[in-house]
Amino acid sequence: MTRLTDRGLPIDRARPHASAGGRRPGAPDRNEDEREAVTHSRPTFEIVAATAADIPVITRHRVAMFRDMNELQSGAEDALARAAAECLAKALPLGEYLGWVARSTASASAVIGGAGVQLRAMLPRPRPGGAELEVGPEAVVLNVYVEPSWRRRGVAEALMRSVLADLETRGVRRVVLHASDAGRRLYERLGFVPTTEMRLTAPGTPAGAGQPTPDVEVRSSPIEGLGLFAARPFAPGDRIRRVTVVREVTPEAPLRPELGERADHCDYPDGKVVLIGFPDRHINHSCDPNAHVRYQGAAAEFIARRPIARGDEITCDYNINISGGTAWPCHCGAARCLGTTVGDFFRLPLAVQREYRPLLASWFVRRHADALAALDEGP
Ligand SMILES: [Zn+2]
Repeated sequence: MTRLTDRGLPIDRARPHASAGGRRPGAPDRNEDEREAVTHSRPTFEIVAATAADIPVITRHRVAMFRDMNELQSGAEDALARAAAECLAKALPLGEYLGWVARSTASASAVIGGAGVQLRAMLPRPRPGGAELEVGPEAVVLNVYVEPSWRRRGVAEALMRSVLADLETRGVRRVVLHASDAGRRLYERLGFVPTTEMRLTAPGTPAGAGQPTPDVEVRSSPIEGLGLFAARPFAPGDRIRRVTVVREVTPEAPLRPELGERADHCDYPDGKVVLIGFPDRHINHSCDPNAHVRYQGAAAEFIARRPIARGDEITCDYNINISGGTAWPCHCGAARCLGTTVGDFFRLPLAVQREYRPLLASWFVRRHADALAALDEGP
């Protein structure tokens, strides 16, 4: 393993494999003489390539980094950690994310810092000067973090030199990052220069980027895929949130799967098809749901049917306000699970139809007046 002093090593961009360079699996180790030459009596650290086992510590660093920059509220920390861990679990094995961690050599393998790179495809563009092409991938440096007690000891610089040496080996020529105030001088010293990048944060949009909303959060569900979870308690009858609608889906403006638009993210109010936005499209079906959808004119809201505790998954029954839909297997886990979502209100057991009757939308009642009259007058 590459071993470094707490002061890092002399700066030399022309030596990509200077000792600050991290060791990727399979890379040759440094020889003993070199190792001894840079070992001090003061606490030392080593830089090693991150593996899947480091994902918890990488996500902890990411949360701490945004907290340090005052960009993350404490209530949103868990959601960020979970979402980042899911993302890293996919990207790390694919090589789309490269990570390094700094470990103290004094206390057994304690991780004291880390840095990462996201490699992303880019449309070819001219290199500075305009004579050559830049074809990518582009490297985005992120998650550069050092534990407070180890700061000002060259850890961040050693990590960054490992990152840059590795990128040079891979032939990656374009490296970008967002500098925190604390990191700007280091990055300038490493040769980074400010660019003209601008940013638009869509006003008032709970963007699909996964911004936490105060009332709910999205995370892995035991029912299926991602689910919508309560971030605060709700009492029966409480309005959980208004359902976000991206747009109406029409023959002229059909779903665009290449943009991630999916039929199972659609709702069917009053003969229309609408694409539901984030986070509401992640609400899962349950055969005994704790919430339902209430339509108010063109708008829809999730309303609690029962007390919902913070952390509970919020569910609704997809069979309410629908007829002639498709059926598919259900694994909701409710005691009264039908084993299938029937896709049709009128194919639910009669007792369940009667239970849901007050929840039906006025447009559904209008469209199915005869069948509902039979239900209301039935035995
Ligand atoms: Zn079920």
